[in-house]
Amino acid sequence: MVGGMVRDIIMGRGTVDVDVVVNGDGPSFAASLAALTGGSIVLHDRFGTSVLILPDKRRVDVATARTETYNAAAALPDVSFTVIDYDLKRRDFSINAVAVALGSAEFGEVLDPFNGQADIAAGVIRVLHEGSFVDDPTRIFRAARFEQRFQFHLDEETERLLRAAVRAGLLNHVSGARVRNEVMAIFEEREPATTVKRLQDFGVWNALVPGLDANVTAATIVAAITMAGKELSPSLKPDWRTFNAYLMGLATDASEAAARDLTERLGLSHHSRRAVTRAVAGRSLVLSELANEPQPSVLRQTLAGYSDAALVFFYAAGDAAVRASIERFLAGRRIKPLITGRDLTRQGYLPSAVFSDVLESVMAAQLDGIVKTVAEANELARQLLDAANQIAVSGDK
Ligand code: ATP
Repeated sequence: MVGGMVRDIIMGRGTVDVDVVVNGDGPSFAASLAALTGGSIVLHDRFGTSVLILPDKRRVDVATARTETYNAAAALPDVSFTVIDYDLKRRDFSINAVAVALGSAEFGEVLDPFNGQADIAAGVIRVLHEGSFVDDPTRIFRAARFEQRFQFHLDEETERLLRAAVRAGLLNHVSGARVRNEVMAIFEEREPATTVKRLQDFGVWNALVPGLDANVTAATIVAAITMAGKELSPSLKPDWRTFNAYLMGLATDASEAAARDLTERLGLSHHSRRAVTRAVAGRSLVLSELANEPQPSVLRQTLAGYSDAALVFFYAAGDAAVRASIERFLAGRRIKPLITGRDLTRQGYLPSAVFSDVLESVMAAQLDGIVKTVAEANELARQLLDAANQIAVSGDK
C-alpha cells in the first residue's frame, strides 16, 4: 500500500481510495482481487496499472512495480522490497513515498526510505532529489496544493528548486492536458484560493500564460466562487461547468487576450474557450449594469449568451445588488413564455427567422409585466410581425 493513502492514514485523515503496488504481476493480482471482492476492473493499461471499483464504489488502483533501469546487483538486501523501493524513488514528495507491506510474511512493515513519516510529523513538503521538478514540472502544482491542503510548508531547498524550475520555463514543456489536470485538482480542493495565491507567489501563473496574474482580487473571487456555486446550484443547469467558473476567477484581472491564451494553454473545448473568454472580457460592463437593478427584460438581455459558469463568476465578483440581480434573473428563467412559435403558425404566419426575435420581445414584455395574458401576448406578436412585414397566409390576422 503506497502513496496518498499511507500518508492520510499516518496523518489520521479519512481516506477513500486505495493505492496498491504489486511486486510482480499487477493485472492478475487485480483480477483475483476483483473476483474475491465482487468488484470490477474499469481500466487496465499498458503500464500494468489496473483500476478496480469495489461494490461500495471505492476505488483501488493496482500498479505494477517496475525495474526498468534497476540494477539488481546494487540492490538493497531485502529482495522483496527492492522493486517497491525503485517505485518509491520515482514519486513526488517524501510524504507520498511511504509504503506499508500487505503480504502475509511482512504485513504491516513500513518502508520509508525518504523519511516521509518524519516530514509528515514536521509538516514538510520535500522532493526526493534535485532533479525532481525537471523530471516532472507538474510537481510544482502538486507541491503548492499539498502544502496548502495540509497547512504544511515547503522545505527550503525544495522551494529553491521549485522557483528555479519556474524561472527556467519548465512549465512550457508540459502538455495542456497535464496542466489542465493539475489545475482541475486545485479547484477540487476544499479551499482552492490559498493554492492559487501560493502559485502566484511562485510566479507560476505568469510563467504559464504571460499576463496572467492571480492577484488578491483573483484569489478572493476564486474563494467566493466556491460559495457562489453552492448557493446558486439549485437554479443552475445540472451540467454547469464549475471548472470554467474557477478559470474565469483565476483570469479576473487578465486581459481578454490572456484569458483566451489560458483557455488555449489548457486545451479547453471551443465552447469552454469562448465561455471563459467572454465572461472575463464582459465582467466590468455586466457588473456595472447589474448593480443598477435593471428591469427584468434588460437583465435578460445583459446576461443572454453568458454560460451558467459565468453567472456564478459574476455572482462571486459582484456586490449585494449584483447578486440580487442574478437571483432575479435565475427566477425569471423559470417563467414559461405565454406563447411559442406554434401560436404564431396557428395564426397563419409562416415560420421565419423573425419568429425568434418576436418571441424574445414578447417574453421581455411578459417579464416586465407589460403583457399578462396569452391574448395580450398574441396581440403584441401580431403587431411585431406586421411591423416586420410578415404576412399571414391564413387564420384570423
Ligand atoms: P490526493 O489525496 O490528492 O488523491 P494522492 O497523493 O493520492 O493525493 P494522486 O494524484 O492520486 O495523489 O497520486 C497517487 C500517488 O502517486 C501520490 O501519492 C504519489 O506518490 C504518486 N504521484 C502522483 N503524481 C505524481 C507525480 N507527478 N510524480 C511523482 N509521483 C506522483
